[in-house]
Amino acid sequence: MLTHAPEEPGVRRFEAEVASVDGRNVTLSETYFYAESGGQPADRGTLGGVPVADVQKGEEAVVHTLEEAPDFDVGDEVAGVVDDDFRTYCMRAHTASHVLYGAGRRLLDDLGYGGFDIGEEKVRVDFATATDIDDEVVVELERLTNRAVWDSREVTWEEVPAEEATARDDVAFNTKTEEGVMADADAVRLVDIDGWDVAACGGTHVSNTSEIGPVTVVGRSNPGEGLTRVEFAVGPSGVERRADVHRAALDASRELGTAVEDVGEAAAELRAEKESLESDLRELESDLIEGKLAELDAVERDGATWRVGVVDEFGPNDVGEAAKDAVADGEDVVVAVGGGDSPFVVVAAAEDADANAGDVVSDLTDEFGGGGGGGAAFAQGGGLDAAPEDVVARVRDGE
Ligand SMILES: [Zn+2]
Repeated sequence: MLTHAPEEPGVRRFEAEVASVDGRNVTLSETYFYAESGGQPADRGTLGGVPVADVQKGEEAVVHTLEEAPDFDVGDEVAGVVDDDFRTYCMRAHTASHVLYGAGRRLLDDLGYGGFDIGEEKVRVDFATATDIDDEVVVELERLTNRAVWDSREVTWEEVPAEEATARDDVAFNTKTEEGVMADADAVRLVDIDGWDVAACGGTHVSNTSEIGPVTVVGRSNPGEGLTRVEFAVGPSGVERRADVHRAALDASRELGTAVEDVGEAAAELRAEKESLESDLRELESDLIEGKLAELDAVERDGATWRVGVVDEFGPNDVGEAAKDAVADGEDVVVAVGGGDSPFVVVAAAEDADANAGDVVSDLTDEFGGGGGGGAAFAQGGGLDAAPEDVVARVRDGE
C-alpha cells in the first residue's frame, strides 16, 4: 500500500514516522497524501509544518517533496496535514467524472474510456465513442449527470482480484490509474456508483453523489480521431459559469422579446429576415446603379453607343456588376468612373461593340497611374491619380 488516500479519503490529519529524508524529499512509514496519478493532481498540505510542493509515487513509497529541506530526521514522528479545500475539490471533481461517464453509458454508442484530468478550474473527460457529441448530446449529458447527483447515489469502493475486474464488461477502466494499480498488485480497486457506473480507479472519491454539487459542462472539443473531450466545472467556477449563461439567456430573451425557451427560434427567424432584407437591398441598389448608368452621357463611337460618366456612392464591385447587367440588357459599352478617395473605373463592353474593355482600362492607368486589368468584355482599374471628371473627359475624347 503506497498511500491510504484512496481507501480513506476523509482523513486530513495523521501522524507517521519519517522513513527517509533526501534533501527536500521525504518518505514516511505510511501516508494519506495522494500522489499524482491517473489525471488526479497531487495533494497539497504540510508535513511537520513544512508546505508540501509535490507528491509522486516512488519505487517503494510515496515521495513527498517539501518546499524546503525539513529539520526533522529519520525516525521522528511528524504530523501530516492534507489541504482540505483542495482534496475535497479533487474528490468532488473526480467523482463527477465517474457520474458523467455513467451518463455517457446511457447516451453514447461503443463507449470507451479515453482519459481524464482534473485542473484547477475545470475537469476533462475524453469519451471514445462513435456517437457525434453535438450540443443536444452535451446538454443531455449534463442533465443526466446533475440528475444522478440529485438522486444521492451511494459511492463505494473495494479491491477485487484483477482477473475478476477485467472479466466484467460493465467496468470502465481509467487506464492511467489502472496501470499503477495493476502493476503493484493482483487487485484492482472498483469504484461503484450505485446503479449508475462501475470503474476501476485508484483516485479519491466522495461517498455519495450529492456531495458533488452542481456540475456545469463548459466546453467540448475533438482531441483526436474518435475522441470527444467534454470539459466541466464543479464548485465556484461552475456556479459562476451557470450564472453567466443564465444572464446571457435573459439578455437575449429581453432583446428578442420572447421567452427564454424560444430564444433560439426567434434568433433564427431574425437572421432569416435579415438575410432576406439584405438580398432585397442588394437588388434595389443594383437597380439604382443600373438606372444611373442608363442616364450617363452617350458617346457615339465606331457605330456603338458608349455610356460614359461618374457614378458616386457605390463601390467598384457593385458598379461592375451593374455595368455587366446593363450590357447584358442591351447597352453597347459602359464606362463608369467612381469618385471618392480612390477613384476607380469599370468598363463593360458587348461582344459586337468593337470595343475592348481591357484596352480602355490600360489606356487610363497608363495616363493616370493606378492598376487594374481584365478582358475584352469586362475590366476594371483602381487607384487612379486624377479627378473622376478628368478620367471621364479622357474616355469621352478618346485621347
Ligand atoms: Zn475515480
